[in-house]
Amino acid sequence: FAPWSDPASKPFISFKNVTKTFGDFVAVDNLSLDIFTREFFALLGASGCGKSTLLRMLAGFEQPSSGEIILDGQSLAGIPPYKRPVNMMFQSYALFPHMTVESNVAFGLKQDGMPKADIAERVDQMLKLVKLDKFAKRKPHQLSGGQRQRVALARSIAKRPKVLLLDEPLGALDKKLREETQFELMDLQQQLGLTFVVVTHDQEEAMTMADRIAVMAHGKVIQVATPPEIYEAPNSRFVADFIGDVNIFDGTVSAVSDGFVRIETEGGLSIKVASQETPAVGGKAGFAVRPEKIRVGNTQPACAPLNAAQGVVWDIGYLGDMTVFHVKLGDGRVVKASSLNAVRLVEDPIGYDQDVWVWFDENAGVVLRD
Ligand code: ATP
Repeated sequence: FAPWSDPASKPFISFKNVTKTFGDFVAVDNLSLDIFTREFFALLGASGCGKSTLLRMLAGFEQPSSGEIILDGQSLAGIPPYKRPVNMMFQSYALFPHMTVESNVAFGLKQDGMPKADIAERVDQMLKLVKLDKFAKRKPHQLSGGQRQRVALARSIAKRPKVLLLDEPLGALDKKLREETQFELMDLQQQLGLTFVVVTHDQEEAMTMADRIAVMAHGKVIQVATPPEIYEAPNSRFVADFIGDVNIFDGTVSAVSDGFVRIETEGGLSIKVASQETPAVGGKAGFAVRPEKIRVGNTQPACAPLNAAQGVVWDIGYLGDMTVFHVKLGDGRVVKASSLNAVRLVEDPIGYDQDVWVWFDENAGVVLRD
């Protein structure tokens, strides 16, 4: 299931050149974006990048200043929130404190005038789905944070919207519960066959849950891709730096040929890597490589002098599942390397202050054009 990679499939939600200004502040800047049916889509970006504004325009709480939003082939212009096949779950959950769990879930259905018996059946179904059927008679204050989150979820899907919008849905939960709930949300989305659009500033959360991620900055989408593409083939310095940990080696392009790019850094590192990029020879470029793609060893690697440098082990961080090495090169630059403790890339025991080589292979990262 990957409708976004099939040119024949039509998007379910389309933002077309959408701009939103508040006074003279541009919160969303001429943004176009397609989301497909049954997709778990994440809007990821730092605070203030415009992701919530985008979600609120889809819900109908804000109107675009210009541009258009299309849902299921229809323009949403002028359609009030309650008439859109969209529901929103807020981070605060916004549960009614004086109502029981079941009344909270039933609230929207009652407002819609659904017959009593149908409401009871639907509420029961929803509470079973989120595994809270035993808690139907409790009030929100008698529940844990995770349970409250599930009540909010049950309430927001009770009306069977086609699209569920989730604004920082796990923000109030502690780390362990967050991680569990991420998988629950994914299961639920699959079971219900709904389109989920989630706003988060937490990259791990977006990477875990989403089919695709839009990385946003300053009201624009910088890259839209699947989590592995975003991580392994960031399209820009911004995305490489924003997602995960990265080493970026900047320098001058000395050659471009046959799918290879050579870059010489000021620190004396000679880089030759496979790349389809064709930056101008003599111009500036960077090479971005993740710490787990950097190798550390006591002996000179076969690739030297290319893609290799000598340094001193400066720091070793043991994280349980992996170990992180900080290696200081001759020019003072610190290279981050990491290795899974189960599958060590590090060839020999490596200790503090030891002289080592660090190196990477020619497919280890991406060339960034400036
Ligand atoms: P966060 O993660 O902090 O919620 P965000 O990426 O969701 O951030 P938005 O809430 O979309 O960001 O806000 C984008 C920008 O627009 C922010 O600088 C914000 O201050 C501004 N903004 C949002 N709503 C309004 C408003 N009603 N009036 C004026 N400025 C607003």
